[in-house]
Amino acid sequence: MRIPVIAANWKMHKTVEEAIAFTTAFRERVQHITDVEIVIAPPFTAMRAVAELLRDTKISVAGQNFYWEAQGAFTGEVSATMLTDAGATHAIVGHSERRQLFGETDTAVNAKVRAAFASGLIPIMCVGETLNEREANQTLTVLDRQVEQGLAEVTAEQATRLIVAYEPVWAIGTGRNATPAQAQKVHAHIRQRLEQALNRETAGRCRVLYGGSVKPANVRELSAQTDVDGALVGGASLDQVSFAEIVAEGRPAPV
Ligand code: PEP
Repeated sequence: MRIPVIAANWKMHKTVEEAIAFTTAFRERVQHITDVEIVIAPPFTAMRAVAELLRDTKISVAGQNFYWEAQGAFTGEVSATMLTDAGATHAIVGHSERRQLFGETDTAVNAKVRAAFASGLIPIMCVGETLNEREANQTLTVLDRQVEQGLAEVTAEQATRLIVAYEPVWAIGTGRNATPAQAQKVHAHIRQRLEQALNRETAGRCRVLYGGSVKPANVRELSAQTDVDGALVGGASLDQVSFAEIVAEGRPAPV
């Protein structure tokens, strides 16, 4: 059984004060939920404040990005250790906005995934095709490359903690989500690819999240798919009521 993960990516939103108000209300709202792992990725400036408010809860904190070197003359960057120091246990790596707007390559993603594991952070490695790539029937080829190169030199032992987020770029922030059937097809393919890159047991343990216009109304059907193990949520995670609803709706169905 894979425990689902529902993760919030706040992107470049929320001042420290706004992050504190969200977190204080949200942790009360979801305190009864124990069958889902909840992760919040605030901006760096609010990370410590959010982590402190979540200290005695089961909600985890993630960085949205970091640089793979341990320290040095890298103006504007933070390291994996700095994230851990500020209270993070996870880090989003290779988000499509990083790839598209900041030129992040598969090689850079791989360096970050390896640095995350080396410093004890759980990477949430994002993969996904653009609309042009989907229309050109290249979806699976693109994903194969991103998974294979992103996980180069990662051991099966490390990868048992890996979280992958399938985020079709055409679905991010557009209100247009992949259908549950489209998501399942791609997630099953990603798991097969993980099996080839790692091994069957490890691939069976990796959580593969869906991201792209997830909201309270569509998360249940998406996360009910066999190979969809939760969601990475952008816009709809900015409001604590909406994100709490997503967490509640994305839980595993009772057996
Ligand atoms: C994201 O950016 O990770 C994301 C999934 O955004 P949204 O939910 O707004 O589509």
